[in-house]
Amino acid sequence: MKYIALGKTGMNVSRTSFGALPIQRCTFEEAARILRRAYEGGVNFFDTARAYSDSEEKIACALSDVRDKIYIASKTMGRDPAKMRADLETTLRNLKTDHVDLLQFHNHTPTDEQVAEMRKFIQEGKVLHMGVTQHKLEEAFKVVRSGLFETLQFPFSSLSGEKDIALVKETAEAGMGFICMKAMSGGLIRNVEANFAFIRSLKTPVPIWGVQRYEEIEQFLDLEEKDLAYTEEYAAQVAEEKKSLSGKFCRGCGYCLPCPANIEIFMAARMREFILRAPYQNMVSEEGREKMFRIENCIECKACETRCPYGLKPYELLKDQLSWYKGFLKEKGIL
Ligand code: SF4
Ligand code: SF4
Repeated sequence: MKYIALGKTGMNVSRTSFGALPIQRCTFEEAARILRRAYEGGVNFFDTARAYSDSEEKIACALSDVRDKIYIASKTMGRDPAKMRADLETTLRNLKTDHVDLLQFHNHTPTDEQVAEMRKFIQEGKVLHMGVTQHKLEEAFKVVRSGLFETLQFPFSSLSGEKDIALVKETAEAGMGFICMKAMSGGLIRNVEANFAFIRSLKTPVPIWGVQRYEEIEQFLDLEEKDLAYTEEYAAQVAEEKKSLSGKFCRGCGYCLPCPANIEIFMAARMREFILRAPYQNMVSEEGREKMFRIENCIECKACETRCPYGLKPYELLKDQLSWYKGFLKEKGIL
């Protein structure tokens, strides 16, 4: 395993790091087997979130005895100091630790009040570093340019475009760590090797590979060992994959809203990926089904298409997703 500096945090993290969202779907026993294999393979950076149900507890269960040898990042969705503090206390209790190495504002750019509260956590020693996770490109650039944060977590893979690559470079120039979420684009990417080599070629991004099966962590550790160079052959394969997926890859940025049929496009256009990668009970609950079936009210006004910065036709993606979703509901005996 090779290790790189995560910006100026002083954290020297494994280039293959661990995204602990998918272990929500595993039993405690299986999660422990996977997390332990990662640790034994040299992984020392584990990213979780207060919003990932029992993911924090699973990390504690598997890795408490080596707490001082690993870095743990978590996230808070708290929008006011009281909620942030309540989240942090729960996180520390779940993780059975007295501090997290990195606490990130979960998918939002914080207010001054929220930043001030995070600084209090740092003064108290409960948090060592402060970061932000974002899905929106413009917001991500604002986070970097604010000069307030030590890390940025953003979706990044071989399907990313020039603007995303510019974001990686600017983040490095700002001395911030860049943590790649959705490094497999939520399971869309098939050419794992080329994708791995692409991310590696950029030097600074730290992918937190989302793992939910033992074979997956084995595969990532194996790729890490191979230390692949990003060859012209890989570049050609990536270009081919990008071409074949173009028009199908919703980043969940939400720029296409509002929708007159009140469809939550940024969620509904990725439903299959959500259901396959994380606990899906909420997605198929009565409320979840009501939201998804709003797709049937689409009037094809195409307003979403004019707003999507990635040139997608969201109404077409939505139809495909709904068709898959209905099949899934039938398979589970819900429909
Ligand atoms: S085309 Fe459909 S999904 Fe898109 S904005 Fe119009 S109603 Fe909403
Ligand atoms: S359809 Fe386009 S604008 Fe809407 S969430 Fe997906 S990527 Fe963003």
